[in-house]
Amino acid sequence: MFKISTVAVHGGTDRDLSAGAVTTPVFSSTSFRYLNEGDMPYPRYLNTPNHKVTAAKIAALERGEKALVFASGLAAISAVFMGHLKPGNHILVQADVYGGIFHLADSVLKKFGIEITFVRGHKVEDFREQLKPNTKMLYLESPSNPLLSVVNLRGMAAFAKENNLISVVDNTFATPVNQQPLLLDIDIVLHSGTKYLSGHSDLMCGVVVTSEMMMEHIYEAAIMLGGTLPATELALLERSLKTLVLRVEKQNSNALTVARFLERHPKIEKVNYPGLESHPSFRVASGQMKGFGGMLSFTVKGDASIVLKNTELIQPALSLGGVESIFCMPVHTSHLRVPAEEREAMGITDNLIRLSVGIEDADDICTDLNNSLALV
Ligand SMILES: *Cc1c(COP(=O)(O)O)cnc(C)c1O
Repeated sequence: MFKISTVAVHGGTDRDLSAGAVTTPVFSSTSFRYLNEGDMPYPRYLNTPNHKVTAAKIAALERGEKALVFASGLAAISAVFMGHLKPGNHILVQADVYGGIFHLADSVLKKFGIEITFVRGHKVEDFREQLKPNTKMLYLESPSNPLLSVVNLRGMAAFAKENNLISVVDNTFATPVNQQPLLLDIDIVLHSGTKYLSGHSDLMCGVVVTSEMMMEHIYEAAIMLGGTLPATELALLERSLKTLVLRVEKQNSNALTVARFLERHPKIEKVNYPGLESHPSFRVASGQMKGFGGMLSFTVKGDASIVLKNTELIQPALSLGGVESIFCMPVHTSHLRVPAEEREAMGITDNLIRLSVGIEDADDICTDLNNSLALV
């Protein structure tokens, strides 16, 4: 088995595809001859050559049997829910997952009779307390947004197995470079590939990785829900994945440098980064992650919006995981619609800034923050 840097470059590549090309050609055709071969490619069936090659690389990166690539993270999540749940089922969802899950639960899942409990806390006991006879799935995200709490995935996987639950982990923040949940006994891994997997803030996609058996139901739903990714975008994703390890390792080291810099800064109240010994998740993170990721958040002693308005390099922007450093205030973005009281209880305060660290020079990022903090 090759190491992950090698897999990122070579995994999935089908060298028989064309006249000796080193990279995968882009098959933009929506129509494929069916007289010769067994399977019949059609883009919505996620089985064109570009789909297969890209999915095989992702499966190899996450060390899973099967992967599927979707048009967005939410298309991937929807296929997992629609594939494995039915009316009357109950799911346990970590309370600080991606905000879109709340809206999906409210607007779609409820309508189809699927019951959801959002669980506060990150311990197995917190989830065990909410278990019901009809609980079918356990849905987690680690590290979480925006406080970077890390969930003990091995412990959660064991809890799920004991209770016959399908365990699902959103691995968007960690990437397979830092964490491979399937190796920790989790059943299904998914990503918003819009973030680190594509990594250049110019491509929307999502992925699911799991065993052949678990994928069967997801595939049935996926081809009917229609969230396929076009060939040109698949090729862009495949290309981006070749530099995934380089990018993420640089983001890991930059984020640690920035986190340590901010922790010592007099204008900073608190830094949330699982790679800092001061973070409550440091021990769990050290046990299951190879690197601590490129995301961090911090609270400012004073008006955080001044920091956002006065940087030269770091852009105030939505989303995350790109090569460029960007930041935002969760109270204005991801948690805008969460009532103030609830937000405070979750620790999402008005002075909190979330930073997605890019691959620029770490000193330049620190200097940019330092200059901006000087005006607070
Ligand atoms: C962005 C994001 C999603 C949703 O993905 P889209 O690609 O926007 O559909 C899901 N989970 C996490 C952790 C995200 O950051």
